Amino acid sequence: SEEPDFLEVRGLHAGYGQARVLQGLDFSVARGEVCAILGPNGAGKTTTLRALSGMVRGRGSVTLNGTELLGRSPEQAARLGVAHVPEGRGTFNDLTVEENLRIGAHLRTGRRNRAAVTADLERIYDYFPALRRRSRQAAGSLSGGEQQMIAIGRALMLRPALLLLDEPSLGLAPLVTRELFGIVRAVNEEERTTVVVVEQNAQLALDIAHRAHVLEAGRLVLSGPAREIREDGQVAEVYLGVS
Ligand code: ATP
Repeated sequence: SEEPDFLEVRGLHAGYGQARVLQGLDFSVARGEVCAILGPNGAGKTTTLRALSGMVRGRGSVTLNGTELLGRSPEQAARLGVAHVPEGRGTFNDLTVEENLRIGAHLRTGRRNRAAVTADLERIYDYFPALRRRSRQAAGSLSGGEQQMIAIGRALMLRPALLLLDEPSLGLAPLVTRELFGIVRAVNEEERTTVVVVEQNAQLALDIAHRAHVLEAGRLVLSGPAREIREDGQVAEVYLGVS
């Protein structure tokens, strides 16, 4: 991919009160890449995404296309093109599927944007046909996989430059997860959306990622092309819990 410095993370520290979680992360993501962040429970994967989207305060530097993201509120980060799909999805159960998706476009107001938002809704439905069929149903009545589709679709309604996905496979059946990851890869290829995905299911994430980073106790212990990490048997055994 071009522009190796689209997302630049330098010396990133972050934590919660006294708890220091991230101990100085350095990595970069090229525009249009899918980057996977892997590692055991509590390594700091979620905290990394939160630091990128303004949900926790970070020290160091995180630039997107040259613009500093640290010190921004979540809304400011969203205005700069960062869409964060949190673990647990955060869909509104009592609202319809379509209402949930439209919430993702709430920053895009005004008459001029209205037609574009409606067109984008159609685009989302093309990626997720199950959501088109259920557009008028309450989000809470859909399956876990479909709710994850809503959460991702809602994030895409922002037209993000950077899409952050936290454990999209959580609680989903393997087949559903595989379908979901296939759609994420299609979005990445067709929209050129840069994606950072945090996953417990390393094998699955490595199938769609271009590059991967393994995080352990707040530090990156391994970085490289996804193919190399996937094919390195020892790496898989030590870091990914597979053999
Ligand atoms: P998991 O898959 O369990 O979410 P993770 O790699 O995403 O793992 P984080 O969620 O980033 O890890 O958590 C890193 C550390 O920060 C853990 O020790 C966790 O207990 C702690 N932590 C996470 N959120 C908070 C919070 N809101 N307040 C205090 N500590 C937190």
